[in-house]
Amino acid sequence: MNHCQNSFVPWRFYFVLSVFIPAATHAPAQDIEYAGEIIRTLSSHEYHGRGYVNDGLAVSAAYIVGEFRKHNLQPLFDGYMQHFTMPVNTFPGKVSVSINNRPLEPVSEFIVDPASKGLSGTFPVITIDKNELLQPKLINRKLRMASKKFLLINFRNASGMDEKDRDLALDIIRILKYDPGLKIAGVLELTDEKLSWNVSTVCATRPVVRINAELDTDEINHVKLEVENQFIDHYPVCNLAGLIRGKLIPDSFFIFAAHYDHLGQMGSETYFPGANDNASGVAVILNLADYFSCHIPDYSIILIAFTAEEAGLLGSKFFVENPPIDLKRIKFMINIDLAGNGEKGITIVNGSVFKEQYEKIRQINESCNCLPDIKSRGEACNSDHCYFYRAGVPDFFIYTMGGTQAYHDLNDDFNSLTLSRFTELVKVLIEFSDSF
Ligand SMILES: [Zn+2]
Repeated sequence: MNHCQNSFVPWRFYFVLSVFIPAATHAPAQDIEYAGEIIRTLSSHEYHGRGYVNDGLAVSAAYIVGEFRKHNLQPLFDGYMQHFTMPVNTFPGKVSVSINNRPLEPVSEFIVDPASKGLSGTFPVITIDKNELLQPKLINRKLRMASKKFLLINFRNASGMDEKDRDLALDIIRILKYDPGLKIAGVLELTDEKLSWNVSTVCATRPVVRINAELDTDEINHVKLEVENQFIDHYPVCNLAGLIRGKLIPDSFFIFAAHYDHLGQMGSETYFPGANDNASGVAVILNLADYFSCHIPDYSIILIAFTAEEAGLLGSKFFVENPPIDLKRIKFMINIDLAGNGEKGITIVNGSVFKEQYEKIRQINESCNCLPDIKSRGEACNSDHCYFYRAGVPDFFIYTMGGTQAYHDLNDDFNSLTLSRFTELVKVLIEFSDSF
């Protein structure tokens, strides 16, 4: 993947070579094939959803470090790795749920709450309806009935509720799920919202399962579950960072970052591919590594693959709290998360905060006619730029629009991505950073 060698080939010879071996020897820096290879690899089964079961994160880190090496990045940490540990609730073993002997499909029909405790057995079910949640006496009665049983909260058709009532009901649901003082064995929440998974750094005192399946609530009388969890206090994780030293002002930095972690596994059978979120972002930074290792900029470029974004931006927070460089020397940072589509363009979080830079990237885009739209948003602490921004580092968070609606589910796989504007996105990023 190192295209730099081509620049040493005499042009006449180069011409001859390029006639016979067109793509392989002088692929463009924004090599879409390279991006595809990265995303396909990181979202494959062998990478276990880049999470906390089967060493998914460690295997992914090893792959990315290998790519950093190929591009001759200078390590910012020993072996590029900034190590730390974090607490995490994991589901390495059995995860199955049946209602009245009907097994539910993982993720499409049920998810275990990421904070859920494990439990195996068959339990009677007491149902409480969403309207009953607003009546304290009824709740207490149902809680008494549900002692050592499962409480099933029927929260379907909740969108029709008065907004205030709905918010109150959601607060009560939170208490029913997580209050350690309650005597119920577990909680099932019936919803008609699309199910999506997450990562939790805490473990609740009981099992909690969200269900979106065609079930007749009047008929539900028992649940059988086999859920094995393992709470790990100090799970080892690492950020990965490499540098391309600038020609003129090497102690001034432009950062490109993307988180490489995803959700991992919900049980031994079910892994979340996380192709768009965020193998695609890793593909962007590795393409940039490829480009800048051949086109050395005036100032230094830092490429970071963050860990544990999905667990609450833990990797980027740790980086900002333990920076290998003076944060004041960062000219600008771009965080990329969800880069796999783009037929509707991109959105820039902090675009309306850093107006001058937003105007600049917009103009670059207009002159290259690259992306159909660049939308601007205000600040939002919704990805790895957040702690940099809070520390005073000017930054953008860029995500692509259009294409798949898959998010934190099993459909976020390589085949669901269009990558239709990937090359254009990388081009805009290069020109933007070159303009500083
Ligand atoms: Zn993400």
